[in-house]
Amino acid sequence: MKIAILSRNPNLYSTRRMVEAGGELGHEMKVIDPLRCYMTIASQRPTINYKGEELTGYDALIPRIGASITFYGTAVARQFEMMGVYNINESVAISRSRDKLRSLQLLARKGIGLPVTGFAHSTQYTNDLIEKVGGAPLVIKLLEGTQGIGVVLAETAKAGQSVIEAFRGLDANILVQEFIKEADGADIRCLVVGDKVVAAMKRQGKEGEFRSNLHRGGSACIARLTPEERSTAVRAARIMGLNVAGVDLLRANHGPVVMEVNSSPGLEGIETATGKDVAGMIIKFIEKEAKPGRTKTRGK
Ligand code: ADP
Ligand code: GLU
Repeated sequence: MKIAILSRNPNLYSTRRMVEAGGELGHEMKVIDPLRCYMTIASQRPTINYKGEELTGYDALIPRIGASITFYGTAVARQFEMMGVYNINESVAISRSRDKLRSLQLLARKGIGLPVTGFAHSTQYTNDLIEKVGGAPLVIKLLEGTQGIGVVLAETAKAGQSVIEAFRGLDANILVQEFIKEADGADIRCLVVGDKVVAAMKRQGKEGEFRSNLHRGGSACIARLTPEERSTAVRAARIMGLNVAGVDLLRANHGPVVMEVNSSPGLEGIETATGKDVAGMIIKFIEKEAKPGRTKTRGK
């Protein structure tokens, strides 16, 4: 098969690993920078051009679209879909997962366990909002944050209120969340491919840190999942419409709660922590699933 990886940088670990895994399985792998693609839309025959040449003959697409280029990146992925190329994570699903509130609303509607979460535009009733998520201590998150930056633990309602007002004063969108104390500074990253969790790691924040992000000095080890955690992760990915997803769970007293579903999960941390060939499993999933015209939404 001829498989395109949409990625800004061929040297990124995840991109490299998928090129390697695809090559080993006998596929022709091409890394394409989405920001260098240009497209014609207003015709019967949609085309994508790249570095002066038309892209043709692709059987499958692996989109690795960073949050900062979601708008243009999903447009390029959609163009592949319009051409009938199988896309492992469809553009619609990626856009959906990038909107945190929409994702949480969708997961809640389908009965997935979530931390009690609130959001507001106005700061007029912040006190009431804090009460509604169970009062202090509570977690406040910038919607646009990644790598744990912009995730704050407020020990008191008063502190919470100041943080919320400060963020809103800067016009940043936030959500507030019940603090899952019993998670004890750890979370579980489940790497879902198709209808399976193919690898899972536990990330533990460094001493005295409630955020488990590796970027914040956390460490990772292989995780053993309960059947409930497994099924929660798989269901969350399916609800988002993602075939490949990194589902982050917290272990709450009342069972697993989903924090986030990531449509471009990094492979380095999880392959290192678990020793699993996740890249190879992604390529094998494509081998099984990719048929021309199999794309469900065609960008709709
Ligand atoms: P980011 O997307 O920036 O990584 P997260 O929402 O994943 O932000 O939060 C970062 C980390 O903070 C999580 O990995 C988890 O360890 C911790 N955390 C986040 N929300 C909660 C919560 N409601 N209760 C307890 N810990 C949390
Ligand atoms: N930065 C990468 C992403 O968000 C990896 C982070 C992760 O997998 O948690 O796609």
